[in-house]
Amino acid sequence: MIRPILKYGDDTLHAPAAPVDEITPDIERLIDDMVQTMYAAPGIGLAAPQVGVPLRVAVIDISVGRDPDGLIVMVNPEFVERDGMQLEEEGCLSVPGFNATVVRPSRVVVKGLDRSGVEFVREGSGLLARAFQHEMDHLDGTLFVDRLRGIKRDVIVRKIRKLSRTGKW
Ligand SMILES: [Zn+2]
Repeated sequence: MIRPILKYGDDTLHAPAAPVDEITPDIERLIDDMVQTMYAAPGIGLAAPQVGVPLRVAVIDISVGRDPDGLIVMVNPEFVERDGMQLEEEGCLSVPGFNATVVRPSRVVVKGLDRSGVEFVREGSGLLARAFQHEMDHLDGTLFVDRLRGIKRDVIVRKIRKLSRTGKW
């Protein structure tokens, strides 16, 4: 089932999410729905708070379904390593219509549980490293807009407020 994606300004997006205690049938359904919602958007990643569920679950596929092994499901993910630096344009399904350059580490190692509850360790660089960080930020209530500084951030926030006021957000 495709679930509605919340937009910037919704409380669930701006609060830290809670760890998952156990992979229950509800969590499995959530994961299936998130994968379907991500592909339908289409997007390269989606975190549970974006569909209104305040739990530490995220899905990533930087191939958007083209690579059969491209899907990564992560439950309670944590960083093991982060290094380097990259500067690339970034957007978010919860901030439609806006992009900005965000500074991120260029390589990360992440550990977490897969959809069966089995621990995995994954290394990512470039776009994959960026996707890991973007989605894990969501689990802490942080959006890419929050990582911008000064005028770049103000311009986006002001435009979103204006859209909200006129019922277009
Ligand atoms: Zn996002």
